[in-house]
Amino acid sequence: MDYLIKSMDPGQNFRIFATVTTGVTEIARKRHDTWPIATAALGRVMTGAVLLGANLKGRDMITIRVAGDGPLGSLVVSANAGGEVRGYVQEPHVDLPRQIEGKLPVGAAVGRGTLSVTKDLGLKEPFTGSVEIISGEIAEDLTHYLITSEQIPSAMSLGVLVDGEGSVRASGGFWLEMLPGAGEEIAGILEKHLAGLPPVSTMVNNGASPEDIAREVAGKFEINILDKTQVSFKCMCGVKKVENLLVSLGRQEIKDMIEESGGAEVRCHFCGEIYNFSMEDMERLLEELK
Ligand code: ZN
Repeated sequence: MDYLIKSMDPGQNFRIFATVTTGVTEIARKRHDTWPIATAALGRVMTGAVLLGANLKGRDMITIRVAGDGPLGSLVVSANAGGEVRGYVQEPHVDLPRQIEGKLPVGAAVGRGTLSVTKDLGLKEPFTGSVEIISGEIAEDLTHYLITSEQIPSAMSLGVLVDGEGSVRASGGFWLEMLPGAGEEIAGILEKHLAGLPPVSTMVNNGASPEDIAREVAGKFEINILDKTQVSFKCMCGVKKVENLLVSLGRQEIKDMIEESGGAEVRCHFCGEIYNFSMEDMERLLEELK
């Protein structure tokens, strides 16, 4: 079972959120039939969204859009405070030569462009902040976003390990946030310590739990585990929503679909779920439009 933990040092100098997302990244891979580079990119963005989403409340939602000019196209992922995450990559079938043995060239596949984070906090207008993509490696870009757009001194690490068959072996990440009033000295010690840590995907592959990851990140500092949330792949789509979408197309469009194919097949972008509508279903929708 995938989950996320929140932790803090007793002196309230920093917080660490850590998560293992091997299960949800594997579900996303299967649903979208992603190839390894796309799997790693999508898994990293999903893990980042889970970490940022943990900072929200109730039904609030965060959406991360990574719009690069690389072969993957855009990645769109949304998550909420309940650890529910969904997402897709525009072009799941991408392959590029490996420059470094064993390292998937995610940055090159994402390219340059814009990373934006939209927070829907149930207010009239959602809040969106955008930054330029600096490496396309995702964790570096999200850290850049947190520091420049939200002024939160942060370090984030995200990692996905894909095996020879293309399945997800390990996926996870952490977000270290320095709290207001934290000593410069502590930040310096943590920064130095982070530089010497193994990749988070290696930790997860070696069996590390989110608690283990947080303790690794904290190094010599003590932390208290505050909260634990289950993480799951969950979409907001459903038959009713898809019906509403079809109805919104209007009578003529529905009539055309009945004539051309006798029904409709609608695939949800976000989760890959396919909704089939028979001719009777479509005629019932036409009735509703009268
Ligand atoms: Zn869906």
